[in-house]
Amino acid sequence: MHGFSYRNGSLYCENVELAPLAAEYGTPLYVYSAGTILDHYGRLDAALDGVEHEVAYAVKANSNLSVLRLLAEKGAGFDIVSGGELFRVIKAGGDPRHCTFAGVGKTCEEIQYALEQEIYSFNVESEEELRYLNEVAGEMGVVAPAAVRVNPNVDAKTHKYISTGKSENKFGVDFEKIEGLYERAAAELPNVRMRGLQMHIGSQLTSVAPFVEAVEKVAPLVESLKERHGIEFWSIGGGIGIVYEGSLESGGVAWWEAKSEDERPLTAEVYGKSIVPRLRETGLKIIVEPGRFIAGNAGVLISKCLYEKKGAAKTFKVVDAGMNDLIRPALYEGHHDIVPLIEPSTGETVEMDVVGPICESGDFFCQNRKLPDFQRGEMIALMSAGAYGFVMASNYNSRPLPAEVLVDGDRAALVRKRQTMDDLIAGEL
Ligand SMILES: *Cc1c(COP(=O)(O)O)cnc(C)c1O
Repeated sequence: MHGFSYRNGSLYCENVELAPLAAEYGTPLYVYSAGTILDHYGRLDAALDGVEHEVAYAVKANSNLSVLRLLAEKGAGFDIVSGGELFRVIKAGGDPRHCTFAGVGKTCEEIQYALEQEIYSFNVESEEELRYLNEVAGEMGVVAPAAVRVNPNVDAKTHKYISTGKSENKFGVDFEKIEGLYERAAAELPNVRMRGLQMHIGSQLTSVAPFVEAVEKVAPLVESLKERHGIEFWSIGGGIGIVYEGSLESGGVAWWEAKSEDERPLTAEVYGKSIVPRLRETGLKIIVEPGRFIAGNAGVLISKCLYEKKGAAKTFKVVDAGMNDLIRPALYEGHHDIVPLIEPSTGETVEMDVVGPICESGDFFCQNRKLPDFQRGEMIALMSAGAYGFVMASNYNSRPLPAEVLVDGDRAALVRKRQTMDDLIAGEL
């Protein structure tokens, strides 16, 4: 479910009407639903009930402190990809001992910081990194807990920019090289302790088949590593996809249940049922690292129409949000449903391109899409912008970063101020 629906002709997030909120805080404005975030977290947690597990939220999807705090209070772990994300988790009240540190390019400073904070595991992506981790831990007189990320060479069948589990991707260590690497670590690297194995085959997977394939393929390997090296966990990564199209069809209440079997997103229930039996056989603690699944459908980006422009070939609606605020369409050909904040009274539509103010032809939110007409001054919501939205926003074109609001039931709180002109130049000398 997600917390966005029309009530009496106006779009709400939970019990808060969005149009007055946007008038108060201005646009472009990100709004998140706390209830949706916690619902998705709870669903995934419940779906993995049959096996010892931890849900480690992938911070990079949406790293607002208030979002992290919500999850920390529920006991979530966190999957981080930088020292900055670890800093955020700690500031939000999260426990570093429930943090796993992913990424191909950890720096010396990041490794030292994470060692000081006693994180749960460094998820290492190459032999050179593992040897360097051993060196840094040695200098600090500690033993670093580690896992290697295996590249299982499985096709995630998603956009090529978010596919990570094939041999040609930069991520992970080849499946065939893992056992040898754990042998060498045991023999030669006294300052690392191999605590687990990790994998992550891609993002926005909409079918369970690639997950099942990867689990089946890697399970014998983790069983062997458990026997020979005493590893205790297996992180199976994130990547569970969400539905980006048809966001409001059934009023936001269990909306995907209204969809046919093959249009449905990969639900937590299907995911759990398909892999838990094989995971349990390993006897290992299972970690999952969902980002998009938790936050994606829980956020919208509200924007105001600035101008209409009727060209020879097309009608353009120029809005006040741009690719610097939400880059998914430009970067991944990502789709966002676009709905007016005030529900249209008829079903009439106009074919249009919704574009931003940035000086780039890639700065569009949709092209040739039939949408209810809207005019200068009217507001729209770009749906399902809760993950990989604000976190990828930039100051390109010297545009201040948008504000963020978190809604919980009847309450709406500003959780990040809109940047000012002075913020734009704050670090410059
Ligand atoms: C990005 C990432 C995730 C989260 O991916 P989602 O598709 O948002 O669930 C999990 N693990 C690792 C290692 C990642 O890089």
